[in-house]
Amino acid sequence: MIITDNHMHLYNNLRLKALRQFKEVGGTHVFLVSLLCHHYNVFPKRGEDFKEVFDRHIKLVKDANEIVRAFAVLSIHPAEITVLGDKVGYEKAAEIMKDALDLAGKYVAEGKAVAIKSGRPHYKVNKHVWNLSNDVLFHAFEVAKDVGCAVQLHTESFTIDGMKEIANIAKKAGVKLEKVVKHFSPPKIREFEEIGMFPSVIAGNENVLNAAKQGNRFMVETDYIDDKKRPGAVLGPKTVPRKIKELLKHGFDEDLIHKICCENVEKVYGIEIV
Ligand SMILES: [Zn+2]
Repeated sequence: MIITDNHMHLYNNLRLKALRQFKEVGGTHVFLVSLLCHHYNVFPKRGEDFKEVFDRHIKLVKDANEIVRAFAVLSIHPAEITVLGDKVGYEKAAEIMKDALDLAGKYVAEGKAVAIKSGRPHYKVNKHVWNLSNDVLFHAFEVAKDVGCAVQLHTESFTIDGMKEIANIAKKAGVKLEKVVKHFSPPKIREFEEIGMFPSVIAGNENVLNAAKQGNRFMVETDYIDDKKRPGAVLGPKTVPRKIKELLKHGFDEDLIHKICCENVEKVYGIEIV
């Protein structure tokens, strides 16, 4: 049985051990997402400086593939607008982020990664920073369209209006909504079906079960952060396999699991799951 975690990080706590734990309980496939630059002690002054972050992440994903099947997602985290902006100015930060997105797109085109990650701040920012963030997001969609890849989104909390607004930005850039993945989604399967973006449901509480009750158009994730300073924060690496297997106890069949963990993943990312 294929069990896929659609969004996980490896940082400074368990590192590859997290994937051994994931595998122990039945996990088979994982999307590993790179972190903010400062996690790598990289302080970019230009887009090209993301190269070190991406290369180190790709090396990690290569090592991860010794344990499970792992795919690289290259992130230009929306919070970089604040982290970088505080140092170099917000306009300049946006410019660096756009250049970094171009670079991430090149890596995907070369087959080193399968997707990019962008979004907009999940915390309150002023109008100027918000507009710049939307520009960066639009550029991420342009890159995804040109390369033909998926884009994972880190955004403000779910609201219908907010998601529709993002979907409109994506449409303007010409990217297929099916390839726009809302990371950390609540189990609002019908709403996402209507909006067109693809939900990656955060596997806490009864979310996976609640999602399954509404349909099969979703993926699942832990957003495991692997930060030794915050060991209990978000979900552990075993969560997705456990929650997926619980579906069987609730009367759902393996076909549903195959749809969520394999077919949807193949379609969204344009990859083959074996
Ligand atoms: Zn994350």
